Amino acid sequence: MPATSLDQLVSLCKRRGFIFPGSELYGGLANTWDYGPLGVELKNRIKKNWWKTFVRGREDMVGLDASILMNRKVWEASGHVGSFADPLVDCKKCKQRFRGDKLLEEKLGVEAVAVLKLAQIQPMLMAEKIPCPACKKIDWTEAKTFNLMFKTHQGVVEDEGTLVYLRPETAQGIFVNFKNIVDTMRMRLPFGVGQIGKAFRNEITPGNFTFRTREFEQMEIEYFIEPGTAGQYFDHWKQDVWNWYVGLGIDPIRLRVREHEKDELSHYSSRTIDIEYNFPWGFGELFGLANRGDFDLTQHQTFSGQDLHYTDPDDPKKKFLPHVIEPSFGCDRTVLTLLLEAYTEEQVNDDTRIVMKFHPSIAPIDLAILPLSKKENLIAKAQELYKKLIHETDLSIDFDVTGSIGKRYRRQDEIGTPKCITVDFGTLGEDEKQGEKDTVTIRDRDTLKQNRMSMKEVLETLKANR
Ligand code: ATP
Repeated sequence: MPATSLDQLVSLCKRRGFIFPGSELYGGLANTWDYGPLGVELKNRIKKNWWKTFVRGREDMVGLDASILMNRKVWEASGHVGSFADPLVDCKKCKQRFRGDKLLEEKLGVEAVAVLKLAQIQPMLMAEKIPCPACKKIDWTEAKTFNLMFKTHQGVVEDEGTLVYLRPETAQGIFVNFKNIVDTMRMRLPFGVGQIGKAFRNEITPGNFTFRTREFEQMEIEYFIEPGTAGQYFDHWKQDVWNWYVGLGIDPIRLRVREHEKDELSHYSSRTIDIEYNFPWGFGELFGLANRGDFDLTQHQTFSGQDLHYTDPDDPKKKFLPHVIEPSFGCDRTVLTLLLEAYTEEQVNDDTRIVMKFHPSIAPIDLAILPLSKKENLIAKAQELYKKLIHETDLSIDFDVTGSIGKRYRRQDEIGTPKCITVDFGTLGEDEKQGEKDTVTIRDRDTLKQNRMSMKEVLETLKANR
Protein backbone atom coordinates (compact mmCIF):
# COMPACT_ATOMS: atom_id res chain seq x y z
CA MET A 1 0.00 0.00 0.00
CA PRO A 2 1.37 3.43 -0.84
CA ALA A 3 1.27 6.43 1.47
CA THR A 4 -2.30 7.52 1.99
CA SER A 5 -1.51 11.03 3.12
CA LEU A 6 1.05 13.41 1.76
CA ASP A 7 1.95 14.54 5.28
CA GLN A 8 3.20 11.06 6.17
CA LEU A 9 5.54 11.14 3.21
CA VAL A 10 6.70 14.74 3.67
CA SER A 11 7.60 13.94 7.26
CA LEU A 12 9.54 10.79 6.35
CA CYS A 13 11.36 12.66 3.57
CA LYS A 14 12.51 15.30 6.03
CA ARG A 15 13.34 12.86 8.82
CA ARG A 16 15.39 10.56 6.64
CA GLY A 17 17.18 13.00 4.37
CA PHE A 18 15.24 12.61 1.12
CA ILE A 19 13.75 16.09 0.69
CA PHE A 20 14.14 19.22 2.81
CA PRO A 21 12.19 22.49 2.59
CA GLY A 22 14.25 24.96 0.51
CA SER A 23 16.16 27.78 2.30
CA GLU A 24 14.88 26.45 5.61
CA LEU A 25 17.62 28.19 7.61
CA TYR A 26 16.17 31.55 6.55
CA GLY A 27 12.55 30.66 7.14
CA GLY A 28 12.19 28.97 3.76
CA LEU A 29 11.12 30.08 0.30
CA ALA A 30 7.60 28.99 -0.53
CA ASN A 31 7.31 25.82 -2.61
CA THR A 32 11.01 25.22 -3.04
CA TRP A 33 12.48 21.88 -2.04
CA ASP A 34 16.03 20.55 -1.76
CA TYR A 35 16.87 16.92 -2.40
CA GLY A 36 18.92 15.66 0.53
CA PRO A 37 21.65 12.98 0.46
CA LEU A 38 19.21 10.11 -0.10
CA GLY A 39 16.86 12.10 -2.34
CA VAL A 40 19.64 12.94 -4.77
CA GLU A 41 20.67 9.26 -4.92
CA LEU A 42 17.09 8.25 -5.67
CA LYS A 43 16.65 10.95 -8.30
CA ASN A 44 19.98 10.16 -9.95
CA ARG A 45 19.07 6.50 -10.15
CA ILE A 46 15.77 7.32 -11.79
CA LYS A 47 17.49 9.60 -14.30
CA LYS A 48 20.16 6.99 -14.98
CA ASN A 49 17.52 4.32 -15.50
CA TRP A 50 15.61 6.64 -17.86
CA TRP A 51 18.75 7.49 -19.84
CA LYS A 52 19.69 3.83 -20.14
CA THR A 53 16.17 2.80 -21.19
CA PHE A 54 15.34 5.59 -23.60
CA VAL A 55 18.67 7.02 -24.81
CA ARG A 56 21.69 4.73 -24.46
CA GLY A 57 19.67 1.56 -24.74
CA ARG A 58 18.15 2.40 -28.14
CA GLU A 59 19.81 2.60 -31.55
CA ASP A 60 17.36 5.27 -32.70
CA MET A 61 18.13 7.74 -29.87
CA VAL A 62 20.86 10.22 -28.97
CA GLY A 63 21.21 12.64 -26.05
CA LEU A 64 21.61 16.38 -25.56
CA ASP A 65 22.24 18.87 -22.77
CA ALA A 66 21.21 22.33 -23.97
CA SER A 67 21.45 25.69 -22.15
CA ILE A 68 18.77 26.96 -19.83
CA LEU A 69 19.21 30.48 -21.19
CA MET A 70 18.37 30.73 -24.89
CA ASN A 71 17.92 33.44 -27.46
CA ARG A 72 14.57 35.20 -26.87
CA LYS A 73 13.49 34.47 -30.40
CA VAL A 74 13.26 30.78 -29.51
CA TRP A 75 10.31 31.57 -27.23
CA GLU A 76 8.68 33.86 -29.78
CA ALA A 77 8.88 31.05 -32.35
CA SER A 78 7.63 28.38 -29.94
CA GLY A 79 4.60 30.45 -29.00
CA HIS A 80 5.55 30.82 -25.34
CA VAL A 81 5.89 34.62 -25.45
CA GLY A 82 2.43 34.93 -26.98
CA SER A 83 0.39 32.24 -25.32
CA PHE A 84 2.09 30.51 -22.38
CA ALA A 85 -0.24 32.03 -19.88
CA ASP A 86 -2.72 31.13 -17.14
CA PRO A 87 -6.06 32.86 -16.44
CA LEU A 88 -5.85 34.73 -13.13
CA VAL A 89 -8.68 36.12 -11.03
CA ASP A 90 -8.44 38.37 -7.96
CA CYS A 91 -10.73 38.20 -4.97
CA LYS A 92 -12.14 41.75 -4.72
CA LYS A 93 -12.54 41.39 -0.98
CA CYS A 94 -9.15 40.10 0.24
CA LYS A 95 -7.17 40.85 -2.95
CA GLN A 96 -5.65 37.40 -3.17
CA ARG A 97 -4.96 36.01 -6.62
CA PHE A 98 -5.87 32.54 -7.91
CA ARG A 99 -6.01 30.55 -11.11
CA GLY A 100 -9.61 30.83 -12.24
CA ASP A 101 -9.51 27.57 -14.18
CA LYS A 102 -8.23 25.60 -11.17
CA LEU A 103 -11.00 27.01 -8.94
CA LEU A 104 -13.57 25.79 -11.42
CA GLU A 105 -11.97 22.40 -12.03
CA GLU A 106 -13.00 21.00 -8.66
CA LYS A 107 -16.66 21.60 -9.44
CA LEU A 108 -16.81 21.12 -13.20
CA GLY A 109 -13.95 18.73 -13.97
CA VAL A 110 -10.78 19.27 -16.02
CA GLU A 111 -12.36 18.56 -19.41
CA ALA A 112 -15.21 21.05 -19.02
CA VAL A 113 -12.91 23.84 -17.82
CA ALA A 114 -10.32 23.29 -20.55
CA VAL A 115 -12.78 24.42 -23.22
CA LEU A 116 -13.80 27.67 -21.47
CA LYS A 117 -12.80 30.99 -23.00
CA LEU A 118 -11.02 33.60 -20.85
CA ALA A 119 -14.10 35.84 -20.72
CA GLN A 120 -16.27 32.97 -19.42
CA ILE A 121 -14.21 32.27 -16.30
CA GLN A 122 -15.42 35.05 -14.01
CA PRO A 123 -19.13 34.63 -14.93
CA MET A 124 -18.80 30.88 -14.32
CA LEU A 125 -17.16 31.42 -10.92
CA MET A 126 -20.04 33.69 -9.93
CA ALA A 127 -22.73 31.39 -11.37
CA GLU A 128 -21.29 28.35 -9.58
CA LYS A 129 -20.95 30.41 -6.40
CA ILE A 130 -17.30 29.47 -5.96
CA PRO A 131 -15.88 31.21 -2.89
CA CYS A 132 -12.40 32.62 -2.40
CA PRO A 133 -10.29 29.85 -0.76
CA ALA A 134 -8.80 32.49 1.56
CA CYS A 135 -11.73 34.65 2.79
CA LYS A 136 -14.74 32.62 1.53
CA LYS A 137 -16.39 35.64 -0.19
CA ILE A 138 -17.75 35.25 -3.72
CA ASP A 139 -16.62 38.39 -5.53
CA TRP A 140 -14.20 37.88 -8.43
CA THR A 141 -12.53 40.21 -10.90
CA GLU A 142 -12.51 39.31 -14.58
CA ALA A 143 -9.84 36.81 -15.55
CA LYS A 144 -6.57 38.15 -16.98
CA THR A 145 -3.75 36.16 -18.48
CA PHE A 146 -0.34 36.00 -16.87
CA ASN A 147 2.78 34.76 -18.67
CA LEU A 148 4.48 31.95 -16.79
CA MET A 149 8.04 32.50 -18.02
CA PHE A 150 10.66 33.75 -15.56
CA LYS A 151 12.59 36.74 -16.82
CA THR A 152 16.13 37.80 -16.11
CA HIS A 153 18.85 39.87 -17.80
CA GLN A 154 22.02 38.67 -19.41
CA GLY A 155 25.02 40.94 -18.78
CA VAL A 156 25.31 44.09 -16.71
CA VAL A 157 22.64 46.27 -18.30
CA GLU A 158 19.07 45.62 -17.25
CA ASP A 159 17.03 46.85 -20.18
CA GLU A 160 14.67 45.39 -22.75
CA GLY A 161 17.59 44.46 -25.00
CA THR A 162 19.22 42.15 -22.44
CA LEU A 163 16.02 40.40 -21.38
CA VAL A 164 16.25 36.59 -21.41
CA TYR A 165 13.86 33.90 -20.18
CA LEU A 166 14.62 30.85 -18.11
CA ARG A 167 13.42 28.00 -20.30
CA PRO A 168 9.89 26.82 -19.38
CA GLU A 169 10.54 23.43 -21.02
CA THR A 170 13.61 21.56 -22.24
CA ALA A 171 11.98 20.65 -25.58
CA GLN A 172 12.99 23.77 -27.50
CA GLY A 173 16.69 23.09 -26.87
CA ILE A 174 16.23 19.95 -28.95
CA PHE A 175 14.41 21.64 -31.83
CA VAL A 176 17.00 24.38 -32.20
CA ASN A 177 19.73 21.72 -32.35
CA PHE A 178 17.88 19.50 -34.80
CA LYS A 179 20.08 20.43 -37.76
CA ASN A 180 23.31 20.17 -35.75
CA ILE A 181 22.36 16.68 -34.64
CA VAL A 182 21.33 15.45 -38.09
CA ASP A 183 24.52 16.84 -39.65
CA THR A 184 26.97 15.61 -37.05
CA MET A 185 25.46 12.26 -36.10
CA ARG A 186 24.21 11.19 -39.57
CA MET A 187 20.84 10.35 -38.06
CA ARG A 188 18.19 8.69 -40.20
CA LEU A 189 14.48 8.93 -39.53
CA PRO A 190 12.89 7.83 -37.36
CA PHE A 191 15.18 8.99 -34.58
CA GLY A 192 14.86 10.77 -31.28
CA VAL A 193 16.78 13.09 -28.99
CA GLY A 194 16.52 12.78 -25.22
CA GLN A 195 17.36 15.42 -22.66
CA ILE A 196 17.17 15.80 -18.89
CA GLY A 197 17.24 19.25 -17.37
CA LYS A 198 15.69 22.00 -15.31
CA ALA A 199 12.73 24.04 -16.45
CA PHE A 200 11.14 27.07 -14.78
CA ARG A 201 7.53 28.24 -14.70
CA ASN A 202 6.18 31.00 -12.55
CA GLU A 203 3.22 28.83 -11.53
CA ILE A 204 0.34 30.66 -9.86
CA THR A 205 -0.68 27.81 -7.63
CA PRO A 206 2.30 25.63 -6.84
CA GLY A 207 1.84 23.01 -4.15
CA ASN A 208 1.28 19.41 -3.16
CA PHE A 209 4.93 19.02 -2.15
CA THR A 210 7.10 18.59 -5.26
CA PHE A 211 4.16 17.95 -7.60
CA ARG A 212 3.97 21.54 -8.79
CA THR A 213 6.96 23.78 -8.20
CA ARG A 214 8.37 26.77 -10.06
CA GLU A 215 11.72 25.12 -10.67
CA PHE A 216 11.56 21.49 -11.73
CA GLU A 217 13.28 18.91 -13.83
CA GLN A 218 12.02 17.35 -17.03
CA MET A 219 13.09 14.30 -18.99
CA GLU A 220 11.99 14.96 -22.55
CA ILE A 221 12.25 13.27 -25.92
CA GLU A 222 11.54 14.68 -29.35
CA TYR A 223 11.06 11.80 -31.75
CA PHE A 224 11.37 12.79 -35.42
CA ILE A 225 9.39 10.79 -37.99
CA GLU A 226 8.22 10.89 -41.59
CA PRO A 227 4.96 12.79 -42.07
CA GLY A 228 1.99 10.44 -42.08
CA THR A 229 3.50 7.85 -39.72
CA ALA A 230 2.56 9.37 -36.35
CA GLY A 231 -0.11 6.83 -35.39
CA GLN A 232 2.12 3.81 -34.92
CA TYR A 233 4.90 5.71 -33.14
CA PHE A 234 2.43 7.39 -30.82
CA ASP A 235 1.11 4.01 -29.70
CA HIS A 236 4.60 2.54 -29.30
CA TRP A 237 5.72 5.39 -27.08
CA LYS A 238 2.59 5.18 -24.99
CA GLN A 239 3.24 1.50 -24.36
CA ASP A 240 7.01 1.89 -23.74
CA VAL A 241 6.46 4.64 -21.19
CA TRP A 242 3.68 2.76 -19.42
CA ASN A 243 5.95 -0.30 -19.21
CA TRP A 244 8.80 1.81 -17.84
CA TYR A 245 6.68 3.18 -15.02
CA VAL A 246 5.26 -0.23 -14.17
CA GLY A 247 8.75 -1.76 -14.34
CA LEU A 248 9.92 0.73 -11.70
CA GLY A 249 7.34 -0.65 -9.33
CA ILE A 250 4.24 1.49 -9.85
CA ASP A 251 1.10 -0.58 -9.45
CA PRO A 252 -0.92 -0.08 -12.67
CA ILE A 253 -4.04 0.09 -10.53
CA ARG A 254 -3.00 3.65 -9.65
CA LEU A 255 -2.16 4.67 -13.23
CA ARG A 256 -4.50 5.72 -16.01
CA VAL A 257 -4.27 7.17 -19.50
CA ARG A 258 -6.26 10.33 -20.18
CA GLU A 259 -6.83 11.41 -23.75
CA HIS A 260 -7.12 15.19 -24.22
CA GLU A 261 -10.36 16.44 -25.76
CA LYS A 262 -9.98 18.22 -29.10
CA ASP A 263 -10.76 21.62 -27.52
CA GLU A 264 -8.26 21.05 -24.76
CA LEU A 265 -5.25 20.51 -27.05
CA SER A 266 -2.34 22.96 -26.98
CA HIS A 267 -1.82 25.13 -30.07
CA TYR A 268 0.94 22.82 -31.36
CA SER A 269 -0.69 19.43 -30.83
CA SER A 270 -3.11 17.29 -32.84
CA ARG A 271 -3.25 14.55 -30.22
CA THR A 272 -2.17 14.42 -26.57
CA ILE A 273 -2.53 11.84 -23.86
CA ASP A 274 -1.40 12.06 -20.25
CA ILE A 275 -0.41 9.20 -18.02
CA GLU A 276 -1.87 10.11 -14.66
CA TYR A 277 -1.14 8.75 -11.19
CA ASN A 278 -3.63 8.53 -8.37
CA PHE A 279 -1.94 10.92 -5.89
CA PRO A 280 -3.35 11.26 -2.35
CA TRP A 281 -5.40 14.25 -3.62
CA GLY A 282 -6.62 12.49 -6.78
CA PHE A 283 -5.39 11.77 -10.31
CA GLY A 284 -2.69 14.13 -11.62
CA GLU A 285 -0.41 14.28 -14.65
CA LEU A 286 2.83 12.34 -14.45
CA PHE A 287 3.72 12.24 -18.11
CA GLY A 288 2.46 13.76 -21.38
CA LEU A 289 2.67 12.40 -24.93
CA ALA A 290 1.92 14.82 -27.77
CA ASN A 291 1.84 14.67 -31.53
CA ARG A 292 3.41 18.05 -32.39
CA GLY A 293 3.37 17.52 -36.15
CA ASP A 294 5.84 19.86 -37.87
CA PHE A 295 4.77 22.86 -35.77
CA ASP A 296 8.11 23.47 -34.05
CA LEU A 297 10.44 22.94 -37.00
CA THR A 298 8.19 25.11 -39.20
CA GLN A 299 8.19 27.88 -36.61
CA HIS A 300 11.96 27.78 -36.10
CA GLN A 301 12.55 27.70 -39.84
CA THR A 302 10.38 30.79 -40.27
CA PHE A 303 11.78 32.73 -37.32
CA SER A 304 15.44 31.85 -37.92
CA GLY A 305 15.38 31.99 -41.70
CA GLN A 306 17.38 28.72 -41.78
CA ASP A 307 16.46 25.69 -43.85
CA LEU A 308 15.54 22.85 -41.48
CA HIS A 309 14.41 20.32 -44.08
CA TYR A 310 15.56 16.76 -43.75
CA THR A 311 16.93 15.04 -46.85
CA ASP A 312 16.32 11.35 -47.29
CA PRO A 313 19.83 9.78 -47.52
CA ASP A 314 18.56 7.22 -50.06
CA ASP A 315 16.70 9.72 -52.19
CA PRO A 316 18.17 13.30 -52.16
CA LYS A 317 15.07 14.54 -54.02
CA LYS A 318 12.96 13.69 -50.99
CA LYS A 319 13.14 16.71 -48.68
CA PHE A 320 10.65 17.48 -45.94
CA LEU A 321 10.19 18.79 -42.42
CA PRO A 322 9.93 15.78 -40.10
CA HIS A 323 6.96 15.42 -37.78
CA VAL A 324 7.45 15.00 -34.06
CA ILE A 325 6.12 12.80 -31.28
CA GLU A 326 7.00 14.18 -27.86
CA PRO A 327 7.16 11.98 -24.75
CA SER A 328 7.59 14.39 -21.83
CA PHE A 329 8.27 13.12 -18.30
CA GLY A 330 8.28 15.15 -15.10
CA CYS A 331 11.35 14.02 -13.21
CA ASP A 332 10.28 15.37 -9.81
CA ARG A 333 6.77 13.98 -10.26
CA THR A 334 8.30 10.59 -11.07
CA VAL A 335 10.40 10.78 -7.89
CA LEU A 336 7.32 11.80 -5.88
CA THR A 337 5.27 8.96 -7.36
CA LEU A 338 7.94 6.39 -6.59
CA LEU A 339 8.25 7.70 -3.03
CA LEU A 340 4.48 7.43 -2.57
CA GLU A 341 4.39 3.94 -4.07
CA ALA A 342 7.23 2.77 -1.85
CA TYR A 343 5.80 4.10 1.43
CA THR A 344 4.41 1.23 3.49
CA GLU A 345 3.26 0.85 7.07
CA GLU A 346 3.12 -2.71 8.39
CA GLN A 347 2.18 -4.34 11.66
CA VAL A 348 5.08 -6.42 12.98
CA ASN A 349 4.61 -7.99 16.43
CA ASP A 350 2.31 -5.27 17.85
CA ASP A 351 4.51 -2.60 16.37
CA THR A 352 4.19 -0.47 13.25
CA ARG A 353 7.06 -0.69 10.84
CA ILE A 354 7.53 2.02 8.20
CA VAL A 355 9.33 0.67 5.18
CA MET A 356 10.10 2.20 1.79
CA LYS A 357 9.65 -0.66 -0.65
CA PHE A 358 11.61 0.82 -3.54
CA HIS A 359 12.28 -1.34 -6.56
CA PRO A 360 15.89 -2.53 -6.01
CA SER A 361 17.04 -0.75 -9.19
CA ILE A 362 16.25 2.69 -7.74
CA ALA A 363 16.77 2.24 -3.99
CA PRO A 364 19.22 4.97 -2.87
CA ILE A 365 21.28 2.45 -0.90
CA ASP A 366 21.73 -1.12 -2.16
CA LEU A 367 23.26 -2.61 0.92
CA ALA A 368 23.95 -1.76 4.53
CA ILE A 369 26.87 -3.30 6.39
CA LEU A 370 26.20 -3.49 10.11
CA PRO A 371 28.66 -4.80 12.69
CA LEU A 372 26.57 -6.55 15.35
CA SER A 373 28.06 -4.38 18.10
CA LYS A 374 30.74 -1.77 18.62
CA LYS A 375 33.42 -4.37 19.46
CA GLU A 376 36.62 -3.31 17.76
CA ASN A 377 37.31 -6.55 15.92
CA LEU A 378 33.74 -6.63 14.57
CA ILE A 379 34.04 -3.07 13.27
CA ALA A 380 37.42 -3.86 11.71
CA LYS A 381 36.04 -6.93 9.90
CA ALA A 382 32.92 -5.08 8.74
CA GLN A 383 35.06 -2.21 7.48
CA GLU A 384 37.29 -4.57 5.59
CA LEU A 385 34.19 -5.93 3.82
CA TYR A 386 32.87 -2.43 3.17
CA LYS A 387 36.12 -1.26 1.57
CA LYS A 388 36.37 -4.39 -0.54
CA LEU A 389 32.82 -3.98 -1.86
CA ILE A 390 33.19 -0.26 -2.53
CA HIS A 391 36.33 -1.02 -4.49
CA GLU A 392 35.11 -4.06 -6.41
CA THR A 393 31.46 -3.23 -7.15
CA ASP A 394 29.38 -0.21 -8.10
CA LEU A 395 26.97 -0.82 -5.23
CA SER A 396 25.88 2.07 -3.08
CA ILE A 397 26.70 0.95 0.45
CA ASP A 398 25.94 2.34 3.87
CA PHE A 399 28.11 1.51 6.88
CA ASP A 400 26.36 1.99 10.20
CA VAL A 401 27.51 1.28 13.75
CA THR A 402 25.31 3.73 15.64
CA GLY A 403 22.59 2.35 17.94
CA SER A 404 21.19 -1.10 18.60
CA ILE A 405 20.95 -3.53 15.70
CA GLY A 406 17.13 -3.29 15.87
CA LYS A 407 17.22 0.51 15.52
CA ARG A 408 19.67 0.25 12.65
CA TYR A 409 17.39 -2.19 10.81
CA ARG A 410 14.53 0.27 11.34
CA ARG A 411 16.51 3.08 9.80
CA GLN A 412 17.44 0.96 6.79
CA ASP A 413 13.75 0.00 6.36
CA GLU A 414 12.75 3.66 6.35
CA ILE A 415 15.31 4.54 3.69
CA GLY A 416 14.38 1.48 1.65
CA THR A 417 17.65 -0.49 1.68
CA PRO A 418 16.80 -3.87 0.10
CA LYS A 419 19.43 -5.90 2.00
CA CYS A 420 21.38 -5.54 5.25
CA ILE A 421 24.30 -7.71 6.21
CA THR A 422 25.36 -8.19 9.80
CA VAL A 423 28.92 -9.05 10.73
CA ASP A 424 29.06 -11.02 14.00
CA PHE A 425 31.35 -13.29 15.97
CA GLY A 426 30.49 -16.14 13.62
CA THR A 427 31.96 -14.11 10.76
CA LEU A 428 35.17 -13.73 12.75
CA GLY A 429 35.29 -17.48 13.39
CA GLU A 430 34.82 -16.92 17.13
CA ASP A 431 31.32 -18.31 17.61
CA GLU A 432 30.14 -21.33 15.67
CA LYS A 433 26.61 -20.98 17.02
CA GLN A 434 26.23 -17.68 15.15
CA GLY A 435 27.60 -19.15 11.93
CA GLU A 436 30.60 -20.45 10.06
CA LYS A 437 33.71 -18.30 9.64
CA ASP A 438 33.42 -15.67 6.89
CA THR A 439 29.65 -16.01 6.63
CA VAL A 440 27.29 -13.13 7.41
CA THR A 441 23.59 -12.74 8.16
CA ILE A 442 21.69 -11.20 5.28
CA ARG A 443 18.30 -9.66 6.03
CA ASP A 444 15.68 -8.98 3.42
CA ARG A 445 13.81 -5.66 3.74
CA ASP A 446 10.44 -6.95 2.56
CA THR A 447 10.19 -10.49 3.94
CA LEU A 448 12.32 -9.78 7.04
CA LYS A 449 13.86 -13.21 6.49
CA GLN A 450 17.43 -13.66 7.67
CA ASN A 451 19.81 -16.11 6.04
CA ARG A 452 23.36 -17.10 6.68
CA MET A 453 25.62 -16.96 3.63
CA SER A 454 29.12 -16.34 2.41
CA MET A 455 30.02 -12.93 0.97
CA LYS A 456 30.22 -14.48 -2.49
CA GLU A 457 26.61 -15.63 -2.18
CA VAL A 458 25.60 -12.19 -0.88
CA LEU A 459 26.99 -10.55 -4.00
CA GLU A 460 25.23 -13.05 -6.26
CA THR A 461 21.92 -12.40 -4.45
CA LEU A 462 22.34 -8.64 -4.86
CA LYS A 463 23.14 -8.95 -8.55
CA ALA A 464 20.12 -11.18 -9.14
CA ASN A 465 17.84 -8.68 -7.41
CA ARG A 466 18.91 -5.52 -9.20
P1 ATP B 1 0.18 20.64 -15.67
O1 ATP B 1 -1.08 20.47 -16.49
O2 ATP B 1 0.24 19.77 -14.44
O3 ATP B 1 0.55 22.08 -15.41
P2 ATP B 1 1.60 20.55 -18.13
O4 ATP B 1 0.62 19.84 -19.01
O5 ATP B 1 1.73 22.01 -18.23
O6 ATP B 1 1.37 20.11 -16.60
P3 ATP B 1 3.86 19.75 -19.67
O7 ATP B 1 4.08 21.08 -20.24
O8 ATP B 1 3.26 18.67 -20.51
O9 ATP B 1 3.00 19.88 -18.31
O10 ATP B 1 5.23 19.25 -19.02
C1 ATP B 1 5.65 17.91 -19.06
C2 ATP B 1 5.80 17.31 -17.68
O11 ATP B 1 6.55 18.18 -16.83
C3 ATP B 1 4.47 17.11 -16.96
O12 ATP B 1 3.92 15.87 -17.31
C4 ATP B 1 4.89 17.14 -15.51
O13 ATP B 1 5.28 15.85 -15.08
C5 ATP B 1 6.09 18.05 -15.49
N1 ATP B 1 5.72 19.37 -14.96
C6 ATP B 1 5.09 20.37 -15.62
N2 ATP B 1 4.94 21.45 -14.82
C7 ATP B 1 5.50 21.12 -13.63
C8 ATP B 1 5.67 21.83 -12.38
N3 ATP B 1 5.26 23.07 -12.23
N4 ATP B 1 6.27 21.17 -11.36
C9 ATP B 1 6.72 19.90 -11.51
N5 ATP B 1 6.60 19.20 -12.66
C10 ATP B 1 5.99 19.79 -13.70
